[in-house]
Amino acid sequence: KEYSDSIKAKDSDVLGYITVTEDEALKNAEKAQEIIDKGEAKALTGIPLAIKDNICTDGIRTTCASKMLENFVPPYDANVIEKLKAENYVLLGKTSMDEFAMGGSTQTSAFAKTRNPFDLSRVPGGSSGGSAAVVSAGLAPAALGSDTGGSIRQPASFCGVTGLKPTYGRVSRYGLVAFASSLDQIGPIANNAVDCGTILNVICGKDSRDATSANKPAEDFNAKVGKDIKGMKIALPKEFFADSTDDEVKNAVLAAAKKYEEMGATLVDCSMKSLKYAVSAYYLVASAEAASNLSRFDGIKYGLRGEGRTFDEMIRDSRTRGFGDEVKRRILLGNYALSSGYYDAYYLKALALKQQIIKEYNEIFENADVILTPTAPTVAYKIGEQETDPVKMYLADICTVTVNIASLPAISVPCGYNADGMPIGMSLVGRKWDEATLIQTADAFE
Ligand code: GLN
Repeated sequence: KEYSDSIKAKDSDVLGYITVTEDEALKNAEKAQEIIDKGEAKALTGIPLAIKDNICTDGIRTTCASKMLENFVPPYDANVIEKLKAENYVLLGKTSMDEFAMGGSTQTSAFAKTRNPFDLSRVPGGSSGGSAAVVSAGLAPAALGSDTGGSIRQPASFCGVTGLKPTYGRVSRYGLVAFASSLDQIGPIANNAVDCGTILNVICGKDSRDATSANKPAEDFNAKVGKDIKGMKIALPKEFFADSTDDEVKNAVLAAAKKYEEMGATLVDCSMKSLKYAVSAYYLVASAEAASNLSRFDGIKYGLRGEGRTFDEMIRDSRTRGFGDEVKRRILLGNYALSSGYYDAYYLKALALKQQIIKEYNEIFENADVILTPTAPTVAYKIGEQETDPVKMYLADICTVTVNIASLPAISVPCGYNADGMPIGMSLVGRKWDEATLIQTADAFE
């Protein structure tokens, strides 16, 4: 009730939700209360959560913030939703995002162009900007987002909350509307690292309907919380602290490193030489996969149905009216990179870079337990300031994309404010499957 009142009072400013499920939420909360009263509560029983609108919810509209899916009501739940329902969680609503998760500002949403709760004239980041903003504004205690190239971590950092991108394969992608299947991963956004761990404990696990989900033994991701970080090696790759990163951001992250040193950790200088190619490699791979994934939106099976005398005309009209500019740009870029004659020059080179980036991460982890970087080169910028220049927008993903390329887990944690009072985030990157160390390290800082 409290959250639904806050949503009514504040979401007209924040614009974090596309759909609010108030009636269902109150009913489910009562049901959860009975379970709690019987002493049968699980970790998330009765916990209200907001869900990014690219995660399918049975009977509840799932739009991907696109006109293409404006009226799409999935007939099934994503695997993560099945798992949350098994705990009797409470769905508060579906959150806004960049259309089909393509973007970093939530301003490409066809519906709610979410604002940053710290300053409503600024973007919340993206693409999971709605999820980060509602947690930041107190309109949900936690949320799920998805991260293909930074979409959980960057909005978390812009909105002053914590966001965890799990290892690729940790969480089933079944029911997550695909953007770039080799990079997409669902994860939590919350007020602290332990809440992220609690949610990950529930949503992780092998699922036969996602062949890339991994069969890992059950573990408690919060098991290492409170353990001393003395002796831990924290690597700082110098390319992430280059001139293109704002001084205020750099200084806040370096101050956090100092704090870790005071707690007994050892700071390790290191280098990631291929970082300068990472954005190019990411946009080639992500767009190539997006072009292929989004070909299913033809207006025939579901989604916006265009008009025309022939199938071709109808499909063209559906896609012309259903997709926004950024989505069209990615489809064009992806099909270009995959077309014969360009495939070797672009797509194959991007795949080679992927191997190089993995190799460089492995080398760093030979002498480090976690890696510390800024989450984004800047704090949240003003609405309208950057999103008109696509290349500038793409370059702002420099700090996050290598993590997806290398399938690694990473967590963004608030680490200070700039002179305007806007939050700054730092990212801790871990070895594959080592979310527990990330949560331990993040918690030690909080
Ligand atoms: N900003 C990046 C992009 O536009 C990342 C998006 C994401 O992680 N979904 O592709």
